[in-house]
Amino acid sequence: QLFGQRPNAMGLDLNDVLVWRQIKAALAEHSQSKVKITPLVAGWQPSADASKNTLVNPANNGDVLGTAVWADDAAVQQAFTMAQQHWPQWRDTDVAQRAQCLRAAADCLEQDMYPWLALLVREAGKTWGDAVAEIREAVDFCRYYAQQAQQQFAQPIPLPEGGAGVAGESNQLSYHGRGIFVCISPWNFPLAIFIGQVTAALVTGNAVVAKPAQQTSIIAQQAVALLHRCGIPEGVLALLPGGRELGADMIKQPLVAGVAFTGSVAAAQAVNRALAAKDGPIVPLIAETGGQNVMIADSSALPEQLCDDVMRSAFASAGQRCSALRVLYLQKEIYPKVVAMLKGAMAQWVVANPENLYSDAGPIIDAEAREKLRAYIAQQKATAKGYFCAAAEVARGGYYLAPCLLEIDDIQQIPGEQFGPILHVIEYQEKNLPQVLEQAQSTDFGLTFGIHSRIETKARAIAQNIAVGNVYVNRNMIGAVVGLQPFGGIGLSGTGPKAGGPHYLTRFCNEKSISVNT
Ligand code: GLU
Repeated sequence: QLFGQRPNAMGLDLNDVLVWRQIKAALAEHSQSKVKITPLVAGWQPSADASKNTLVNPANNGDVLGTAVWADDAAVQQAFTMAQQHWPQWRDTDVAQRAQCLRAAADCLEQDMYPWLALLVREAGKTWGDAVAEIREAVDFCRYYAQQAQQQFAQPIPLPEGGAGVAGESNQLSYHGRGIFVCISPWNFPLAIFIGQVTAALVTGNAVVAKPAQQTSIIAQQAVALLHRCGIPEGVLALLPGGRELGADMIKQPLVAGVAFTGSVAAAQAVNRALAAKDGPIVPLIAETGGQNVMIADSSALPEQLCDDVMRSAFASAGQRCSALRVLYLQKEIYPKVVAMLKGAMAQWVVANPENLYSDAGPIIDAEAREKLRAYIAQQKATAKGYFCAAAEVARGGYYLAPCLLEIDDIQQIPGEQFGPILHVIEYQEKNLPQVLEQAQSTDFGLTFGIHSRIETKARAIAQNIAVGNVYVNRNMIGAVVGLQPFGGIGLSGTGPKAGGPHYLTRFCNEKSISVNT
């Protein structure tokens, strides 16, 4: 039984005034103290002259969260030495015991939700709704992987008896940790993706050296501290905060037995090349990258629902999800009406400090990312058939960006993934549907795909044939739920393993078959 029971965590009702009061209190308390984070490596202390980096709230640049000491060479070396030393014992620890640490972490996250919410809002610019969803996802990952590990790996799998001419031979297959996993995670799901990668590697009996995105180092630090409190030995889980070069240094370490990476395609390709250039064992890479995600809507779609789903898919989280909708194909007959409706909805969209409950979307993560998006919009605007940019409110003092709609002719006009609130719209004619579907896949990305059509046979056929990881029919196309919508793409979008799915954990394992002539 691979799927187990429905594992999903409870959320919070943000409309409940008592909940809201607690949120406000947590935020006020959180804003009072500054944090100082350092690498978390057993037996290692930062030197007195270590350089420090300031961590600011992307929604309010005057709001300093604290400082971070980045990992230096000595920290990297110590993390791998410790991991190497402590790994065998962890690998040989009963899987039930390893799983128990994940369950304990899930319980702690759920019981202590409010400070986590405040941290997610202040460090990552999440809206309260997104922050609640992220904690739920983190809790789900912990419980789901705990359950899957026990179900799949507690006992070797017995295989049929017999072999090449040998009667009475017993055969079995078992799963084991590979060694030291490097986990590199992004800022857009700084808790859920971070904890998902790390717990998957740990529960399968690996040691982990993790590097979070530098923008969200505090969240990662607190997640690691939580896992340590919940029983994960310090020697088998180290945190190395730092920038891109640090990731490259970690990959080069000779003891790396596997890499789990979530981030941009370019960075994943760099990791892949670095691994390929190494001498010694071939190191597996589990990569989850971006998408040039398409939704196609025909004239049978319900316009209001379509519009709602497009707004959410393209602009929620300021478009900073790899699952987000980037290119909407609209059938000619509904094109003018739906575009007009979308413009109307955009004009109502509130881009505000996410500390306010009425904020539909918060900021872009940092100045550099916002500049890239602005430059892209400025350049596309000149050649696009139509351009519309609007919001009911665009706050100041942080890296805010109003949602933007670009009407274009061809998906090839978009140079790669634009990781922000930018929606491209293309008109198509039903008679050209096969070519449209071909075009939709011409980018070599294959992450999410949306279909809005009430013609069931057609929707089903497209869903079957399209080469992507996640298809969504007549709904929005973000927010995959652990255990229900295993998430991950193909082609440029990733190496395929699906986070929150029943086969994910096996990718972190070595498999061993034992045959005994009895
Ligand atoms: N799992 C997330 C979703 O379904 C996206 C993850 C990501 O952006 O990396 O929206």
